[in-house]
Amino acid sequence: MPRHIVCLTFDFDTQSGFIARGMTTPTPLSRGEFGLVGAQRILALLKSEAIRATWFIPGFTIESHPRAAAAVVKDGHEVAHHSWAHVPPAQQSRDEEEADLVRANESITRITGRKARGYRSPSWDLSEHTIDLLLAHGFVYDSSLMGADYWPYRARHADRAELGRPYELGEETPLIEMPISWSLDDYPHFELGGTATTVMPGLQSARTVMASWLDEFRYMQKTVEWGVLTYTMYPYVIGRGHRMLAFEQLLRDLRDAGAVFMTMEDAAAEAQQLMFDQP
Ligand SMILES: [Zn+2]
Repeated sequence: MPRHIVCLTFDFDTQSGFIARGMTTPTPLSRGEFGLVGAQRILALLKSEAIRATWFIPGFTIESHPRAAAAVVKDGHEVAHHSWAHVPPAQQSRDEEEADLVRANESITRITGRKARGYRSPSWDLSEHTIDLLLAHGFVYDSSLMGADYWPYRARHADRAELGRPYELGEETPLIEMPISWSLDDYPHFELGGTATTVMPGLQSARTVMASWLDEFRYMQKTVEWGVLTYTMYPYVIGRGHRMLAFEQLLRDLRDAGAVFMTMEDAAAEAQQLMFDQP
């Protein structure tokens, strides 16, 4: 029987990403604050569609906006790990990274009663220590890498990439990688921004982006018997009215097309059973 799973994932960053990038004037902070409005809309939509999703919530959001985090837990969604302060691990020493990992897990345990099973790194930039640290702290899955689309795979210890030498794959670990992609992330499609050297125009038509996202599901159906498709969204991005309308339509189209909605934890468990536990 073909089975095509969709994981809706929300990175509930609020102001944390702006603070981590030093953007602490009132307007960028308020941009993150809008995530509180967006989260309420998303929770209402998920409830009306009877869909459980995965929320990657930084410890910062749990401690700063406890009622908003509690609302996610109350509705039965999975709470997964997204650091405490939203600093990318690639910018931290091993000790700093581990301290942040532990601190955020304490925040999660306070509101859910258990440690996170899944991890997603801020800005999707792992350090050379991240996989080992996740294994040492009992994580089941990571969702920060882009090496596949519909098939979860085993995360590897550091691959060797040196200029002028053939690429060497690191050893596979028991950690399950639930792959992601910027093309299935609302942020680059919709957010206006940039740095001194780059421009991110954003502000694309929500209906057009959702049509591409639906096509991605259709291609998964066409090419694999079993697969997981992960969409990544930020409440302060997808939570704008015209995007919510388009997102609502996407959920109905996915359901009509036969999508099975699952939390990432449940999808990772199914992947483990199907792909790794068989002799
Ligand atoms: Zn984030």
